[in-house]
Amino acid sequence: MIKENLQKIKNSIPDNVTLVAVSKTKPVADLQEAYDAGQRIFGENRIQEMAEKYEVLPKDIKWHMIGHLQSNKVKYMAHFVDLIHGVDKFKTLKEINKQAKKHNRVINCLLQAKIAKEDTKFGLSFQEIEAILTSDETAELKNINIVGFMGMATFTDNTTQLQEEFSSLKKLFDQLKTQHSSLEILSMGMSGDYPLAISEGSTMIRVGSSIFGKRNYN
Ligand SMILES: *Cc1c(COP(=O)(O)O)cnc(C)c1O
Repeated sequence: MIKENLQKIKNSIPDNVTLVAVSKTKPVADLQEAYDAGQRIFGENRIQEMAEKYEVLPKDIKWHMIGHLQSNKVKYMAHFVDLIHGVDKFKTLKEINKQAKKHNRVINCLLQAKIAKEDTKFGLSFQEIEAILTSDETAELKNINIVGFMGMATFTDNTTQLQEEFSSLKKLFDQLKTQHSSLEILSMGMSGDYPLAISEGSTMIRVGSSIFGKRNYN
């Protein structure tokens, strides 16, 4: 089923949209199945779980951290993580920079924007994003590269609301891109809303249950 699900999604999205297969909570065998079907980018939301999977799976996999970050755990992924989606504090950027430096790497990061109306979702305000991008302190962090933004919409089937939330971030992205050429990724859209996110300008979707089936937790 995993192979068929992947194929169906890939056939339905434009070539310029990157598919992150969100494999959190799923066993290594499921990831291997997706890998055998050609998938190379996987997203996890727990650093430890991602590190364990990284150890046993093929080394050409690109690992994306999509979860909320605890600074004290960044060190467990700094040697291999490909992209960190959920940066919502300047302090976290500093820690990523510090750990990346130890491994002589530059780690790509996305700033997580708060676009949902719910209180439960993490994220920076648009003003905070702009402040981080333009600050001298950020410019001093040579071992991180801010390559775009990530947003999670409200959990709703109100299409108009979803559209507004996605398009607000796309607008900010386009606006800031004119001054910050490193911005190239807009990570928006999950199983329930990725077609809409793509039509609103997403370049990277994070899809879990539509590939691997329902999760029991998380
Ligand atoms: C779990 C998760 C996803 C994937 O969710 P699905 O609804 O299973 O596609 C995407 N993004 C984040 C940040 C997640 O935590």
